Parts: sequence; C-alpha cells; structure tokens
Amino acid sequence: MELKDLLEKIRTISTKEINIMEFCGTHTHEIFRYGIREILPPNIHLLSGPGCPVCVTAEEDIDYIIALSQEYNLGIITFGDLVNVPGSLGSLNYLRARGKEVRVVYSPLESLNIAKENPHKKYLLVGIGFETTAPNLAYTLIKATEENIKNLYFLSLHKLTPPAMKAILDMGEIKLDGIIGPGHVSTIIGRVGWKEIFEKYRVPFVIMGFKPEEIVYGIYHLVKIIEEGEPKLLNAYERSVKEEGNKHALEVMYKVFKKGPANWRGLGIIEESGLVLREEFEDFDVRRIYPLKIEKRVDNYNPCKCGEVLRGVLKPTECPLFGKACTPEYPKGPCMVSSEGTCSAYYLYGGV
Ligand code: SF4
Repeated sequence: MELKDLLEKIRTISTKEINIMEFCGTHTHEIFRYGIREILPPNIHLLSGPGCPVCVTAEEDIDYIIALSQEYNLGIITFGDLVNVPGSLGSLNYLRARGKEVRVVYSPLESLNIAKENPHKKYLLVGIGFETTAPNLAYTLIKATEENIKNLYFLSLHKLTPPAMKAILDMGEIKLDGIIGPGHVSTIIGRVGWKEIFEKYRVPFVIMGFKPEEIVYGIYHLVKIIEEGEPKLLNAYERSVKEEGNKHALEVMYKVFKKGPANWRGLGIIEESGLVLREEFEDFDVRRIYPLKIEKRVDNYNPCKCGEVLRGVLKPTECPLFGKACTPEYPKGPCMVSSEGTCSAYYLYGGV
C-alpha cells in the first residue's frame, strides 16, 4: 500500500489521544529524519524510549573504565560514540587527552590483532550494545580463547532490551497505549522474545522496520489494534524478524554470556537485564581481575535530564541546556552524544 493511502487510513481510524513509545534510537532518528511525527494526526503522540546503548551507559561504568586505565595502565578498545559519553570524571576522550591509549574499532575482532601486535601491553575491550551486537563480542572472545590471547580483558556493558521495557511499564510514569518494537533487536530475539512482557502488561506491541513506509505501516497496525481494544503482539517486519529470532546468534551469545544485573542510566540497576561472562570465560573478566569499587558521585550541579528523556517523561526541549550549553558539538549528556540519542535527533531535525 502507498504511504499516502496508509496515512489516510490512519486518519480515518484514529479517534483518540494516544501515546506510543518507540523503544529504539534508530527508529527515533528515522521518524525525525522523514518527518513522520508531522504527517501523523496530532492526537498520536510519539515518545522516545531507552533504546540507545550509548545513552543508557551509566556514569559509574565510564568512571570505572577511566579508573582502570589510570591505575592499571590498560589500553582501552571500544566503539564509536562511547568515547564521548561523560562520566563524573570526564569521558574516555579525557583519558586520551592525558596520553592514555584509547582505540575506537569498527569490529571487535580488531581487538585480537591489537593485543597480538602489542604482547607487552594489556588491553581492555569494552563491549557495548543490545542483543544485536552481543553475539559479535561473544564470537570475539571465543576466538581469543582459541588463539590463547592472554593480554586482552573484557568489560561487558551489554544490555538486554525486554527488561528495560518492563522497567518502564512497571514505573508507570507515563501512560503508554502502544509500543513500537525494535526491528534490529527483534531480528535476534524474535517475536517470541517479547511474549512474556506482552502477556503480562497487554500493551499493544508492533515490531517495525526502519524505512518510512515500514514505520507508517507499523503505526497503522498499532493504531488499529489500539482502536479495536484487543491488544496484540504483531510482527510487521517479517522480511527480517522470524518468530524465534536468530537461533545461531543467540546460541553464540549465551555460550559466552549469561544474564546478570546491569546499571542503566535513567533506570538504575535492573536484575537480569545485562550480559555477564560465564565462568568458562572468567579469565577475560576485568571486573573479577580488577574489582575496583566506584562510588556514585552525586553532582548537584549537573542539570542534564538524560535519565528522564530515556524514560520518555521529558522531551529534550524541556531540558534547560538543550541547544544552548548542550549541542552535538559540545554535548553535556549521552543523549546528545550518540547518533541514536533522542536529544541529538531533536537537535538535528528540529523537534519540539
Ligand atoms: Fe542531557 Fe543535553 Fe539532553 Fe539536556 S539536552 S538532557 S543536557 S543530553
């Protein structure tokens, strides 16, 4: 069906004020990029959720990486935007500016070569991301074991998405009428990965792709389900998402990791929402080898509202720093740092 026909159908069936949350940061950016908020009826309110791995990284985790580098002289290997995320002591770029080794890689497998080429040095690979990236990191550690690499440690900041969605529903800070399910994550965990949450909360849930017509198609189904009053968990991204997900990726992921607690910016510590190393891989586990205690520093002067933005209770434009002291060039919080962050989407595409 054509985009304009879908929009016409949405206008025809949509009768009430509804709040829909898109979990995923990529959805947030695509929705802004294509102006989808503007073309939907004004009674459909889209809220952004916590689905940006960089944004939900806790300050204490950044502080821990900085402390490890400073106290034990570990070279840091990680990905993209994480180097700009502020902890209470600064970002990983702050380490770089002080002469510490901080490398950004595109593939975690690059860390194996770095460790092999520098046998006299010790490296920390910081793994970040949801179910989409964790299988690659798991594969890297399997290879590191096979190649008997001894100077590479690992810190898992990997997080699982359903427990975060559950935490938001449990908090009940906002009335949610429907959820836009993340397409990439669902490709790994399948429609079945959301079943438990759906059955408990009965909030209409539609998994969607990322092209504008896929998003509008998914929103049409979500609005239809909401209006009919019969909650459903629907997969509207069938070309990528299978009922059971990607079994091979899940097998690799759970060969190396098991579920454990994770610290989410804005949501706090959520049990069973993270991926921690299994005993067989504990020789890589930097938390076991260097168990530094990092206290949470309360900074009463930091007005960043990223936590509230990630829970969908505040729009970035309601943060006093937005577009003034905080811009993509000079970000004050991770929601502006990340290319998937809600604050950066509002800034880049002029959200209100
Ligand atoms: Fe934090 Fe900047 Fe977003 Fe405000 S605009 S919530 S300071 S990231």
